[in-house]
Amino acid sequence: MLGNFVLLGAGSILLVVFVSYVTGGFLERRINLFRPLAEKFKAPILKYNTFYQHLPLESKQRFEKKVKQFIYSKEFIARNLSEVTDEMKALISASAVQLTFGLPDVTLLHFDKILIYPDNYYSVINRQYHKGEVNPRMGAIVVSWQAFVEGYAEPYDGINLGIHEMAHALKLENIIQNGEQHFFDLEEYTRWIELAGEEIRRIRNGEESIFRKYASVNEDEFFAVCMEVYFEQPHKLFEENPELYKTLSNLLHQDTIRLYDKPSA
Ligand SMILES: [Zn+2]
Repeated sequence: MLGNFVLLGAGSILLVVFVSYVTGGFLERRINLFRPLAEKFKAPILKYNTFYQHLPLESKQRFEKKVKQFIYSKEFIARNLSEVTDEMKALISASAVQLTFGLPDVTLLHFDKILIYPDNYYSVINRQYHKGEVNPRMGAIVVSWQAFVEGYAEPYDGINLGIHEMAHALKLENIIQNGEQHFFDLEEYTRWIELAGEEIRRIRNGEESIFRKYASVNEDEFFAVCMEVYFEQPHKLFEENPELYKTLSNLLHQDTIRLYDKPSA
């Protein structure tokens, strides 16, 4: 009898510890959502994210709010790393927000896990080293931190792994039926597919193109590379292919050229 009481008591304590652990994390996340973005997250974004640096003050606050929602709604998982730092969380979230800034309701809902490797990692699926990938089956976005940092270290060279992987996630999110889908204007998206086909043909024929050769692998890779160029070389893209620039701008509901033309606040 006494044994039963002891067991029951121990069970209750364990239950209380478990419930407070779960609700504690939940409550903390809820409270953090009402607070301004913490300085530990804001500082690295201000330092390294060129897009954020160019935003006017009011937009900066909107950007921070979206970053906060992203940080507290995703699970950041360290792979071959001792921990995920606040800087990693902030900068990776900022790259997602950069892409979805003009789409207020888009949070990349399906992708609730962010996996971070220190450097290129070996994928057992296709037996190759990767810098990043998007895995819709796992709901995961995977990045090599080294490659991610390199992308923002050179903000105008048209190569940015963070934007690239977030673009893959965004294109998939548009078709995954979870309540967040179909945010791309259908007419604009259809036009983008036509323009993408033309540009991919040009690259494959060895003609001059603003896009690197890798963009011609398929339509998905073209979309991801398009976004890298759209954010890092918008003026050049507009000069080379104004219609493609406008289509991307209309899909994302934002105009990077106008942003970069304005002095930042
Ligand atoms: Zn890709």
